[in-house]
Amino acid sequence: MICVLSGGTGTPKLIQGLKEVVDLKDLSIIVNTVENNYFSGVYVSGDIDVVLYTLKDMIDEEFWYGIKGDTYITSEYLEKMGTPEKIRIGDRDRATMIQKTLMLEEGYSLSEIVDIQRKYLGIESKVIPMSDVDSDIVIETDIGQLDFHEFLIEKQCKPTVKDVVYSDVPPAPELIETIEKSEMVIIGPSNPITSIMPIVSIGGVREALRDKYVVAVSPIVGTEPVSGPAGKFMNALGYDVSAIGVAEMYKDFVDKLIIDNEDKELSSKIKDIVGDVGVTNTMMKSLDIKKDLANFILKSRND
Ligand code: GDP
Repeated sequence: MICVLSGGTGTPKLIQGLKEVVDLKDLSIIVNTVENNYFSGVYVSGDIDVVLYTLKDMIDEEFWYGIKGDTYITSEYLEKMGTPEKIRIGDRDRATMIQKTLMLEEGYSLSEIVDIQRKYLGIESKVIPMSDVDSDIVIETDIGQLDFHEFLIEKQCKPTVKDVVYSDVPPAPELIETIEKSEMVIIGPSNPITSIMPIVSIGGVREALRDKYVVAVSPIVGTEPVSGPAGKFMNALGYDVSAIGVAEMYKDFVDKLIIDNEDKELSSKIKDIVGDVGVTNTMMKSLDIKKDLANFILKSRND
């Protein structure tokens, strides 16, 4: 079994490649939940839904959010009535969220609900939220404390970030066991601060990873993230915004870091930090590149 740690944009692209080369039954995806929150009256677990929709080939790849071809009748009507949504939610996407909200109210855990939804979608891979308990994430900025969505959407990532803090939450029931049972763990190219470290910081995860063969892909190429605010967050926490910064952050639980061809001059430095390095095209602009990257990662074990 192969276990993947995922956020909601970079790693799902890699999952599209893994889907082509791995038996889906042999894949378990552990997903960040730090950004989960209520919007428009429904429980939104954005990264989990992106992973579910990616595994079912129904993700809207333009935004890496929601269902492709979805309608926005409810959202448009809300706007007409003078209550625009903070996050525009598609109609079928909203149904997924309403189901989660109702089942949470009935007392189901998030893990149970996600398992029911992935089975409904006919997804053979396991999708495991990192925790069944919601965490709070606070972005400390020059204009005060913001929650993640205020920073990302309302303030469009503009404030200067001073710190990123999230609360401790317990592991979801299957989390540690899934890592322990895996032959290999893949840390996808996700935001290290708001997607990966929240998973790694959960009690027992770091220790479980240290006992496993762990390969990570750098989400930073050159001196910028491929997309999103990861650079601002890394900077605020004192890490270099480069594959070197990623290596420093992951060094005590990662066996190999895969970096982009563009960064090949960093390879010997990265080898010194984490022990092993792979250099390839990590810019996942086509399914072929995603597939090649997936194969490159899988063959790491035998190198
Ligand atoms: P979020 O949950 O939406 O923040 O998404 P993730 O944490 O999963 O992914 C965001 C990270 O993915 C960003 O830091 C990007 O730099 C990285 N990313 C997105 N696409 C690519 C890609 O094609 N290649 C690489 N190497 N990184 C990518």
